[in-house]
Amino acid sequence: MKIVVLSRNPNLYSTKRLVEAGKNRNHEMLIIDHTKCDIIIEKKKPAIRYKHELITNVDAVIPRIGASVTFFGTAVVRQFEMMKVFTAVESQALMRSRDKLRSLQVLSRAGLGLPKTVFTNYSKNVEDVIHDVGGTPLVIKLLEGTQGLGVVLAENDNAATSVLEAFNGLQARVIVQEFVKEAKGADIRVFIVDGVVVGAMKRQGKEGEFRSNLHRGGTAEIIKLSIDEENAALKAARVMGLGVAGVDLLQSDRGPLILEVNSSPGLEGIEAATGVDIAGKIIHYIERHAE
Ligand code: ADP
Ligand code: GLU
Repeated sequence: MKIVVLSRNPNLYSTKRLVEAGKNRNHEMLIIDHTKCDIIIEKKKPAIRYKHELITNVDAVIPRIGASVTFFGTAVVRQFEMMKVFTAVESQALMRSRDKLRSLQVLSRAGLGLPKTVFTNYSKNVEDVIHDVGGTPLVIKLLEGTQGLGVVLAENDNAATSVLEAFNGLQARVIVQEFVKEAKGADIRVFIVDGVVVGAMKRQGKEGEFRSNLHRGGTAEIIKLSIDEENAALKAARVMGLGVAGVDLLQSDRGPLILEVNSSPGLEGIEAATGVDIAGKIIHYIERHAE
């Protein structure tokens, strides 16, 4: 098969591993920078141009779209879909996963456990909001944030009020969330491919850090999920419509709480922690569906 990895950077670990895994199974692997594609729209003849040539005869795409280029990236994925090319992540699901607020609404409708969350645009309601999430400490998150940047722990009411006022003043949209202290600075990343858990790791924030992101200096180790954790993660990926997903959850006194569902989950941390050939699992998934 001819498989396209949509990625802006051929040197990223995840991109390299996907190309390697595809080649190992005798596929033709192509890396295309979606930000350099032209989308050509006319009656019933959808096409994509890259480096002055039309892209043809592609069997499948693996989108690895960065958060900052979601709009254009999803448009390219949608165009491939119109060209009847199988995609490991559908454009709709990709778009939905990038909107944290909408994602939480979808997950909550499905009956999944979540940290209690409030969205407000109106800083005059701060007292109510603090009360809603069970008081301080609480977590404030920029809706546009990623890799733990834009996630703030407000220790007391004064801090919460001033941070919310500051974000409001900048017209930055934020959510306020109950702080799940039992999680002890750790979270769980569950990697799901085609409705199956292919790897899970526990990430622990460095000393004195409540954020467990590897980009923030956290460390990771393999973990065996409880049945509840596995079921919650699988359901989260399913309701988000994602064939490939990285589901982040917190362990709490009331069971697993879903933090977010990632549609371009990184391969480096999870392959290192679990020793599983996750890139190969993604290629197998494509083989099962693209033909
Ligand atoms: P990002 O998408 O930027 O990674 P997250 O919402 O995943 O943002 O938050 C980053 C990290 O902060 C999480 O991995 C988790 O360790 C910690 N964290 C986030 N929300 C909470 C919360 N409500 N309670 C406790 N810890 C949290
Ligand atoms: N984008 C990375 C991922 O989805 C974030 C990893 C991290 O910082 O924890 O795996």
